[in-house]
Amino acid sequence: MKGLGVSSGIGIGKAFIIDKRQIDIIKKYVNDVDVELYRLRSAFETAKEQLQKLYKETIDKLGEKEAQIFKSHEMMLEDETFIFEVENIIKEEKINAEYALNEVSNIYIQMFQKIEDEYLRERSEDIKDVMNRVIRILMGIVHTNFSELEENSIIVAKDLTPSDTAQIDRKKVAAIITEIGGKTSHAAIIARNLGIPTVVGLNNITDKIRPNDTVICDGKTGKVLINPNEKQLYHYTQKKIREEEIKKELREQVGLPTVTKDGYLVSLTANIGTPKDVDMVLENNAEGIGLFRSEFIFMNRNCQPTEEEQFEQYKEVLVKMGDRPVIIRTLDIGGDKNVPYFDIPEEMNPFLGYRAIRLCLGNVEVFRSQLRAILRASVYGNVKIMFPMISTMKELKDSKKILEQAMSELAEEGIPFKDDIEIGIMIEIPSAAIISDLLAKEVDFFSIGTNDLIQYTMAVDRMNSKLSHLYSQYHPALLRLIKGIIDNAHKAGIWVGMCGEAAGDPKLIPVFIGMGLDEFSMNAPSILRSRYIIRNLNKADMEKIANNTLDMENALEVEEYLSCLFAEEDYSYLRICKNRRKKNG
Ligand code: PEP
Ligand code: MG
Repeated sequence: MKGLGVSSGIGIGKAFIIDKRQIDIIKKYVNDVDVELYRLRSAFETAKEQLQKLYKETIDKLGEKEAQIFKSHEMMLEDETFIFEVENIIKEEKINAEYALNEVSNIYIQMFQKIEDEYLRERSEDIKDVMNRVIRILMGIVHTNFSELEENSIIVAKDLTPSDTAQIDRKKVAAIITEIGGKTSHAAIIARNLGIPTVVGLNNITDKIRPNDTVICDGKTGKVLINPNEKQLYHYTQKKIREEEIKKELREQVGLPTVTKDGYLVSLTANIGTPKDVDMVLENNAEGIGLFRSEFIFMNRNCQPTEEEQFEQYKEVLVKMGDRPVIIRTLDIGGDKNVPYFDIPEEMNPFLGYRAIRLCLGNVEVFRSQLRAILRASVYGNVKIMFPMISTMKELKDSKKILEQAMSELAEEGIPFKDDIEIGIMIEIPSAAIISDLLAKEVDFFSIGTNDLIQYTMAVDRMNSKLSHLYSQYHPALLRLIKGIIDNAHKAGIWVGMCGEAAGDPKLIPVFIGMGLDEFSMNAPSILRSRYIIRNLNKADMEKIANNTLDMENALEVEEYLSCLFAEEDYSYLRICKNRRKKNG
């Protein structure tokens, strides 16, 4: 079976099915309505206790941000209007509590499912999640408990809710397989950050795999094997052993400078979404954080985080990172990342709409409170500020003006902050790439966001799987734009990084080295492999290779050319094994 591999690595283990199938809830007429009312209230109380316990456990394991989901679920259980509605049905129809609860929940779920806004629509999943918990308590059915997971579990689910993903212990989970999801789905982002092999888009997989089936999951190719034969098991076990050997070998890269053989030094940093991700950043010896997607602090909540809450999270990251640089990207919501409490109007093309810096410039108070929080945290480390989705010079100048206002406010209030913070922008819109010579005069650095730059250059929605053949990081149009951005940045005397997924692509790293990219920011698990690759390159040779790609006709030609030169087997794997053999004599 083949799905879409979204987080590479081999996982072999026993299936742990997350059974979300609707349980049969039968309507029963009751004699004693009071008993049902009592059962309802006590089931709500038990559910609240469970959620409080999960909240505490998750704080310890994963941190406040991931635990927040259980707080908001608990708040849903405190909605008296909702409970009254259920109680009224019990009293009027003289029926059992679980049936009445299911009736009312379904009305709310359907209401939410009709909402156009994707984020709000997805909240119907939260209602389902919470109410299923209460219904299961009423019916005496044990709720999925991730703490029961044994080592080497393969999680198999239709889709993972935020509350599920928050509970995952990466030491116990060998792989994740889901029916729904794409490369940028919530589960995929978390899985990549945690380094858990993941395959998505496998239709009806929850019906095909049974609990405790042996499953092999190849997160790179997207292949999933259920109850493999001995030959297959041997093949993938060997592959996994080799992967682990490579991982171990790559530990030799810890502490080494990221420099080419001919002395070209670059900075190798990681992308994060929450303060908890910093553990993986440190474990993988990243030299800093090249992209802190601050919008994650704003997601999975019912209201905007206060300046104080934001300050605490930025401070936590900065303190953990010490003097290593941390680039905090200001709020990049909108498009596929909607937040319900910002009233984003319904749009025909959300990716081309009111999002990111456009939304911040239209909601100055939101923007200012974020900038104040970052500035206040700046005294705890080496922070840099980056604005997303800049498409015009005016947007950049307006953003800088608001930053200056925030600085003046803090100065007047006598609150300390660093006043020499580097300011940068993401180059992820073709207009910004084209006028990058002008923009470069206004900032200290650029970071190229290839994820969006590809979609806007090629006019392909990055979420549309039908058009994925056009969404390619190897297209010469994209590579020419990147070359132009780097040259313009260097002419203006500023440094330029890349934080889109292409920065961690082993086939493209040599090309970007050849173009003179200064910083590469990627998922933490890719850091040591990328350092190894860079340390085995000669920049002078890569310049020629990079130039050759610019004259090619299409993405396939570039990809095949780079695959021949840098085939993973010869390039990053065998050389490590060869080196080891040499060392062992
Ligand atoms: C990008 O667009 O390349 C990027 C890094 O930002 P995001 O994926 O969050 O849009
Ligand atoms: Mg982007």
